[in-house]
Amino acid sequence: MKFCSSCGQPVVQRVPPGDDRERFVCEACGTIHYQNPKIVTGCLPIYEGRVLLCKRAIPPRAGLWTLPAGFLENGETTVEGAIRETREEARAEVSVHGLYTVFNLPHISQIYMFFRADLTNLSFSAGPESADVQLFEESQIPWDELAFPVVRDTLRHYFNDRHAGAFPVRVGDIRYKER
Ligand SMILES: [Zn+2]
Repeated sequence: MKFCSSCGQPVVQRVPPGDDRERFVCEACGTIHYQNPKIVTGCLPIYEGRVLLCKRAIPPRAGLWTLPAGFLENGETTVEGAIRETREEARAEVSVHGLYTVFNLPHISQIYMFFRADLTNLSFSAGPESADVQLFEESQIPWDELAFPVVRDTLRHYFNDRHAGAFPVRVGDIRYKER
């Protein structure tokens, strides 16, 4: 951050009184610009045991497969965001069961949340950010062509938990950049 979003003057980095870390501070208007992690919300859409994946049409990781997910918008709940992203990326309607995986990515200050969901019908197609949308059996999952570790880990948990017959919430930390 270089300029204050309240008054347009340059900001400086310093520790405000009573704080314990550096913030972007505007000395002209006094605004302290706190920056906090962003939430990415998405679905694990299932239809008769198959998982819906989207092939990314845009960077990062264009051409690789992902679960429908994206940044939570202001004024939106995490479930609403997950349903919206599934509509946008897969043109699909889902019925959400509940929270399934949460991942902390402190190196990029993001938190991912995936919800288990059922596709309500077989009407789906690629939205503008997707090149393809398909249902995959467990044996068909393109493990070497998944876009993000959070997708890989969510799918691994899902198939393990399905064999065990229960879906507790899974929390994981991903602390470095990896494929
Ligand atoms: Zn200012």
